[in-house]
Amino acid sequence: MRILLTNDDGIYAKGIEVLHEQLSKDHDVVVVAPETEQSAVGHAITLTDPLRVKSINRNETFFGYAVKGTPADCVKLAINELMKPPPDLVVSGINLGANVGINVIYSGTVSAATEGTILGVPAIAVSINTFRDPDFRPAARFTRLLVRQVREHGLPPYTSLNVNVPAISESKIRGVRVTRQGVTRFVEKFDRRIDPRENVYYWQCGSNPPLEEDGDTDASALANDCISITPIQHDLTNYDFLESLRSWSFPKVSDS
Ligand code: MN
Repeated sequence: MRILLTNDDGIYAKGIEVLHEQLSKDHDVVVVAPETEQSAVGHAITLTDPLRVKSINRNETFFGYAVKGTPADCVKLAINELMKPPPDLVVSGINLGANVGINVIYSGTVSAATEGTILGVPAIAVSINTFRDPDFRPAARFTRLLVRQVREHGLPPYTSLNVNVPAISESKIRGVRVTRQGVTRFVEKFDRRIDPRENVYYWQCGSNPPLEEDGDTDASALANDCISITPIQHDLTNYDFLESLRSWSFPKVSDS
């Protein structure tokens, strides 16, 4: 297959390098990734600045294209301009840090995968549950096997797989769970500081609470040393509430 590989930690991140190495064993992989780290930019796109593209070498060989933009920009540009014909699959990662629960909304890694599905290309986002220099190889090897399954089964339209892998050795990973998105979220704290000119400024420095252990959520799979796979989509409609909202009697705008 032809795979578009991207991330939100930037083209020089270790996670994308290790995943590139694994996926290149079976596939034709094209890397298009942000030039600098774009974690937590969500699904932002760049409209007021140009998208500059540079060819990047790693280990003295061509590695891919660095884009001065967001992860969603990278996927749009790759599919519309840099890769012709378009790729068969978008893979985003391996992100440093889990993308579970509410945090999925802020994730550039997940948004890159979502952008793939919006443009009609199936996609997988992969993250590892630590921020400290992990061994990315177990997650990369798992992704390689998962890509084979995606090729075999296909994915429904507008659906991507959000994969989170525990940061432990392969022998300690207890299995794979298909999960739903939970409600784990970053809990904000703001460090109030004073700059050399005596102006007050704030530095957001929240933390992730411990992962919940019960239930069928993404975070509980990680808490139980399992790989989590959640099928996700961009549609934010609350279908359960749709009919009930239609039964409201709305005022005519002219009455208000
Ligand atoms: Mn990141």
